[in-house]
Amino acid sequence: MIPKFFDTHTHFNFNAFKDDSQEAMKRSLDRDIWFINVAAEAKTAERAVKIAKDYERGVYASVGLHPIHTFEDEFEEEVKGEKVKFVTRAEEFDLEFYSSLIDNNEKIVAIGETGLDYFHLKKFPEDQQQELRKKQQLVFSQQIELAISKDKPLILHCRSLEGFDAYEDMFSILAPAKKKNPKLRGVLHCFSADLAVMKKFLELGFHFGFNGVITFARNYDEPLKALPQDKILLETDSPWLTPIPYRGKRNESLYVPEVAKKIAELRGESWEEVSAYTTQNALRLFEIN
Ligand SMILES: [Zn+2]
Repeated sequence: MIPKFFDTHTHFNFNAFKDDSQEAMKRSLDRDIWFINVAAEAKTAERAVKIAKDYERGVYASVGLHPIHTFEDEFEEEVKGEKVKFVTRAEEFDLEFYSSLIDNNEKIVAIGETGLDYFHLKKFPEDQQQELRKKQQLVFSQQIELAISKDKPLILHCRSLEGFDAYEDMFSILAPAKKKNPKLRGVLHCFSADLAVMKKFLELGFHFGFNGVITFARNYDEPLKALPQDKILLETDSPWLTPIPYRGKRNESLYVPEVAKKIAELRGESWEEVSAYTTQNALRLFEIN
């Protein structure tokens, strides 16, 4: 059995769903939408795994340490129209913890999200930024090693800050690793760079994830149109980045067909075609059968 749509990046394991994750997941599964709950640190990794265990199929987990959880900070996020405080902790990458999670749970299909987030460092003084960028790069490299040793794909998060190109640094870390380990693979989630950057990562064989942003921002059209079908993945990044026409509501995997619809429109393909090839791509990359 193959699902109609595959949301390769969602967060039913996050607090935004703490009261109704089961109902929300059921809404997606009932519409034949499968998904991967992606972790950001140890707690959400454990929760993603626990959730996946309750389902025979259709619900998977990715575990890893997000770059924003390598330092301590406090953000405000909007969830369901409410301002919610969001605290990150400075978590060290615990190789043993993640390694044994993966060894004991076959529903873990990827490592991530991991990568570089220079954007959220902007409030720190410059010397501290430099230090925090180095730390992110180290933690990222450790997770690349984990992906290689467990033979799992990476789910990559990458966000630049003016003057500090995170995509360039990510490429200079990934390219030599790929050369040494040709099986290294993964997806640039929420891809947000230009055509030239896309081509570099495409040469490394990586996939590209697109979400609701493409329904309301036009700067992703060019790379999206240029990509071969076999490298495009659907995602929501729920609870954030809700697509048109659901803006203002909490996002969930149920809305992933809107992303497929926009991709179809931009690329001159049919909705059915986009849903079919993106689903195949997800099943192939994450080795789900
Ligand atoms: Zn995410």
